[in-house]
Amino acid sequence: MSSDFSQDKDLFAFKDDEQLIFVTDTGSPGSGASRDDERHVWRVLIADDEQDVHDATHFALRDTKILGRALEFHDAYNSDQTVEILRTVPDIAVVLLDVVMETANAGLDLVPVIREQLKLRDLRIILRTGEPNQAPEIDVIRDYDINDYKLKSDLTKKKLYASLTSAVRSYKQLRTIENSKKGLDMILRASSELLTQAGLNNFSQGVIIHIAALLGVPPEGVICVRRRDQPAEEDLMIIAAAGDFCSLVDRPLSAMSQTVTSHLLRESLDNRCNVFHKHGVALYLGSHSRGDMSCYIASIAPISEVDQGLLEIFCGNIALCADNISFLDRLKNYAFTDTLVGLPNRNSLEEVINRFIDEGSDVPYSLALIDIDNFAEINAVLGQEYGDQLLRAAADRVKARFYQPNTVARVGGDTFAVFGPSSHIQKKSLLQPFVNPFQIGGELQLLSITAGIVPITEIQGRGSEAIKDASIVLKQAKSQNRGQVVMFHHKMVEEARERLDLLKNLRSAFELNQLFLVFQPKLKLSDLSVTGFEALIRWRNSNGRFISPAEFIPLAEQSGLIIRMGEWILRNAIAELALLRAKGYMNASMAVNLSVAQLEHADILEMLQRVIGENNIDPSFIELEITESIAMGDIDANLKRLEQIRDMGFKLSMDDFGTGFSSFTYLQKMPINCLKIDRSFVNKSDTKSGREIVEMIVQLGKTLGLNVIAEGVEEEIQGILLKEMGCHEVQGFFYAKPMPRDQLHQWLAERKNRG
Ligand code: C2E
Ligand code: MG
Ligand code: MG
Repeated sequence: MSSDFSQDKDLFAFKDDEQLIFVTDTGSPGSGASRDDERHVWRVLIADDEQDVHDATHFALRDTKILGRALEFHDAYNSDQTVEILRTVPDIAVVLLDVVMETANAGLDLVPVIREQLKLRDLRIILRTGEPNQAPEIDVIRDYDINDYKLKSDLTKKKLYASLTSAVRSYKQLRTIENSKKGLDMILRASSELLTQAGLNNFSQGVIIHIAALLGVPPEGVICVRRRDQPAEEDLMIIAAAGDFCSLVDRPLSAMSQTVTSHLLRESLDNRCNVFHKHGVALYLGSHSRGDMSCYIASIAPISEVDQGLLEIFCGNIALCADNISFLDRLKNYAFTDTLVGLPNRNSLEEVINRFIDEGSDVPYSLALIDIDNFAEINAVLGQEYGDQLLRAAADRVKARFYQPNTVARVGGDTFAVFGPSSHIQKKSLLQPFVNPFQIGGELQLLSITAGIVPITEIQGRGSEAIKDASIVLKQAKSQNRGQVVMFHHKMVEEARERLDLLKNLRSAFELNQLFLVFQPKLKLSDLSVTGFEALIRWRNSNGRFISPAEFIPLAEQSGLIIRMGEWILRNAIAELALLRAKGYMNASMAVNLSVAQLEHADILEMLQRVIGENNIDPSFIELEITESIAMGDIDANLKRLEQIRDMGFKLSMDDFGTGFSSFTYLQKMPINCLKIDRSFVNKSDTKSGREIVEMIVQLGKTLGLNVIAEGVEEEIQGILLKEMGCHEVQGFFYAKPMPRDQLHQWLAERKNRG
């Protein structure tokens, strides 16, 4: 016998007549639980083969209350009866278990049965024996969680009471923990389940179900909300209901005939608290973004202290969940609406088309994409705010023209989509909203559009493919039939596929180092001396065919390949310049074309720094040729970039000038050194009007203090005219074609020899 028990022995002197002292239990639960506990008893099982022991125990503990509850005794006289009672009577708190019954170890043998087979883990076990030598081994006590061990001779009333009290308290704690654990588990599961509910109404319905489950009652209740902006006397709205209350959803609380229920809900919302009533509870669910919520659950069973605590935690969680739900609702809304013009967006359109396809309707439907011509330029010149207003006005007109059953969406910056019966989606109807000018801020603006139509029967796939195919038609229309409405044709998709193949081949050609540079000399018109060279990329594919950069550079730009490719081009052009300098061409410059995508790439400044660093070259010998298309992006940001590039020492040149869209004011702001007249003008310089344009550009460049160069000079006469006009430099087949490196060196050497 261990010393733990011998200690007790001294204290537990048997005094049969000793009065039990009823001390107030300091560890008793708060007042909230007393009403509830009065209805309950602690069940105590006496398992002993001696009737005397039963009688004595009953007598000693008669009228006794422990932690506010009376005791209810159950009697068993052998192992089988003990097991039977434990199996059938619920919530037995303590068993006073005799070690020696039908066998010397019958009681001890029961312990593993109780714990392992009956799985009664909370039940407290007080072992009693007649003799100290019948005491169990200490490890049995530990392994089977035996609460106490007493000699029958120790059981004075007082000690019996003390022993039972501590066992009951321990039982109660274990039950509380177990219930809380279950409850918390439920709350966690409920919260995450609730969060997945689509929409606040489903969520609220879930709340009722979960609270009812927490209380162990059928789901019968309502949730009421008082909106933040609603005066207190205004009627409350029922946003969810379950059970008999179902018909009340989305109706005012006053529609409810059960006055007690509505009274409880009002009280809960007015005082922002939980209200408990014999018919049910009104739980204040806290405030969330839509207002204060309260939930009524019908429950006639009293709510235990544990459940009240759990409900509080749960309700606290609900306000949070509700906020998340309405947040998710908003997110969902954002995900499907274009906030600028208030139309469904691409995602939403995709869903509409998918639904149409799934429904398998036999009404022929079509998808049209409408793109506003030159919108980027309008935006650039007149400002984004103006552009936004224009888009909204355009959206309104298209929406007004294509009402139900058509769907109008915005699928890109200046691209709208109309999906509806093919009979509605016609060239005329698509152009109609744009016939009259738009009035924005007192200005009249006429818009022209280009559109592409795809009948849904032509689509192999779903919504996303439909939009993709319509985009292909639109793109083709934009490049070949601007301002028109173009119908889908299979050839278009084939061409798009071809471009995709081309891009694939380009990528591998680049990786395999099959691209190379050619260099075209630029000459000073006054003395035809070489001022520099333009580096131009070349690609000869595996079939030996040359593919024009005009064809593959746009692909590289669209795919982002231009970023790596552009760096490679610059690096090789600079390497060539270094070589030429080493050969004595100390004043020659090297021009390299720079795509907008490169300029707008975050790494551009570091990239430039990197490549000039590698060759230790003075950047003022490098001329970056940009085009007017940089005005179509973020002009301010692009201008800033260009200034930084100029500040690094690079020269900048405006390529293909005259083909794009640069206003004079805009050109003035550009930190450029040179204007390059596009070869289309140079070509026409032998006609009167062509000549006038070239002359004007030369004058413009001179006014701005820029170096002016004409590209694409193919005939001597063009050079003569340009010289007369005061153009500074020329570049063109008449003087020299773009040449691979070795050929260029040869060309230069021959010129030198000729003097
Ligand atoms: P670009 O920058 O305006 O280049 C001048 C184009 O005119 C070159 O065409 C050149 O071969 C061609 N050209 C030069 N003299 C004459 C002439 O007398 N008559 C005619 N008909 N054409 C002449 P290329 O090399 O086919 O390049 C076309 C465009 O592709 C370039 O126009 C440029 O925008 C782009 N590109 C070419 N190489 C590169 C590059 O390395 N990087 C980037 N980003 N773009 C490049
Ligand atoms: Mg160029
Ligand atoms: Mg050019």
